[in-house]
Amino acid sequence: MASPMGLGHLPCYIAPMESHMLMLAVCCLACAGSLATPPVGIEARTIYSNANIYTMDPARPRAEAIAIGDDGTIMGVGSHDEVSLFEGPDTVVIDLRGRTVLPGLIDAHGHVMGLGAYELGVLDLSSATSSMDLVERVAQLARRRTPGEWILGGRWDHESWPSGKLPTHDDLSRAIPEHPVWLRRVDGHAGLANAEAMRRAGITRDTKNPPGGEILRDSRGEPTGVFVDRAMDLIERVIDAPTPSDEELILAAQKHLLGVGLTGVHDAGISPDDAEAYKRLAGDGRLKMRVSAMLSAPYARSYLPSHEPHVSDRFVLRSVKYYMDGAMGSRGAWLLEPYSDRPRADDGSPYTGLAVGDPKELEDLSRLALRHGWQMRTHAIGDRANREVLDAYEHALLEEDALGSDHRFCIEHAQMLHPADIPRFAQLGVLASMQPRHETTDMRWVEERIGPERARGTYAWASLLRTGARICAGSDFPVEPANPFLGFYASITRSDGDGEPAGGWQPQEKMTRAEALHAFTRDAAYAAFQEDLCGSLEVGKSADLIVIDRDIMTCEPREILGTRVLRTVIRGETVYEAP
Ligand SMILES: [Zn+2]
Repeated sequence: MASPMGLGHLPCYIAPMESHMLMLAVCCLACAGSLATPPVGIEARTIYSNANIYTMDPARPRAEAIAIGDDGTIMGVGSHDEVSLFEGPDTVVIDLRGRTVLPGLIDAHGHVMGLGAYELGVLDLSSATSSMDLVERVAQLARRRTPGEWILGGRWDHESWPSGKLPTHDDLSRAIPEHPVWLRRVDGHAGLANAEAMRRAGITRDTKNPPGGEILRDSRGEPTGVFVDRAMDLIERVIDAPTPSDEELILAAQKHLLGVGLTGVHDAGISPDDAEAYKRLAGDGRLKMRVSAMLSAPYARSYLPSHEPHVSDRFVLRSVKYYMDGAMGSRGAWLLEPYSDRPRADDGSPYTGLAVGDPKELEDLSRLALRHGWQMRTHAIGDRANREVLDAYEHALLEEDALGSDHRFCIEHAQMLHPADIPRFAQLGVLASMQPRHETTDMRWVEERIGPERARGTYAWASLLRTGARICAGSDFPVEPANPFLGFYASITRSDGDGEPAGGWQPQEKMTRAEALHAFTRDAAYAAFQEDLCGSLEVGKSADLIVIDRDIMTCEPREILGTRVLRTVIRGETVYEAP
């Protein structure tokens, strides 16, 4: 819901503390003028002053200064005079000279390791759907690379393919004969090499298995291209290009994300091994951003009963990611009625897209999640897929007597909704996790795919908000750029970077600036059960904030696109500063 963003009066908020401390604080406020130093315990470590602050706290939306304590929580936010009460001899006061401050932005749907791989030039194969799909993706990259250059990829998972079978090198070697190729499996315990890579490593049918490793072989005794555990060294020792670890991928992504003003991200699909990498980085303080991760559904059935949700300051794992359909661009979105531009399948039957998931399986998984205190987050693009997910959620909630409970189930994307399903989000307490940039990317061909009538129900932000539903916003990086200001601009304009179409595509579904900021802050925090921790600048919450070079709440819409982040702060610590 929109909250007025006008500059009201600026009462100072006092941090919650022991009652005697509160009395001291109130007393100190009363005689503030004569007090040179605040009493012990309420001296701020840092004060950002002279700022144009949007707090996202509806009780007091605007402020000029913010005081942060030793533990990184917000002690006071208000006018300059009020916040200066927290200034002591050791307080560092930073004059922001009128710059705009926002709560740290949160991307509610991205792929962290995919972005890290992209940043490091490694191919992310986690979304490959079969062995042939994997080969096609590697071949695409090979066409852009000089022959002889290593092609490195990773994160493929044959368990998630319909065949469930390990790949072999034959197709890969045929499609990519000139580049050596090495593709690590998602768990890092196996890799697939092509013929050129094996030639360089001197692998033949006579090569023996090293201790602790195995070269998989076919019925004729020839290597299949898959190397397990210690046998991976046989290939990796001849690679003259770096192979990043999970940790390196996460850190490369983090560097990028902090620089674009994101203090939190929801990682849309990780493995138990990825979770271990996150825990290691959180444990030794290298994970700065807040990551709320979704466990990929194939792992959930065995993982949920034996693992409590993991909740720490920087890393949370308490949700499960399921796929109900494909994407609209490739006509994989599952529709109620046939596609307008492909009404019939090759066999003449009506073509309505692909059911990637099984509604019954989702219902069972949702019940399992409810019983173990986990949240469901399901990918659904087409109107049929969205309806099936809402139905499955509803059945599970009824069966587990959890309707009205604090489940916070989400639908990821929720791009195309039948009008009858729009009110069901609020009724069931299901959040819509949406990516505003997808709308401006897809608007060019959506009407062709589904016709003008159904196009009106796509990316229906305003309609959803009107029913009381919560929208948490994201980008789906690296599919779209992670820069949240591009998503913010798309939310309020529904136009591309050139301002086309003028006035926006299906403009009745635009968000206001306040609604868009809400979706990238408060409701993204809410989707991760973190609304008491972050998402707004309020006393007692963690000081997660960004300083930007322009006021995106008042500037010309097109100027939002060039927003530069000057400083990113998480729990009071500056984790990024513009060079
Ligand atoms: Zn995604």
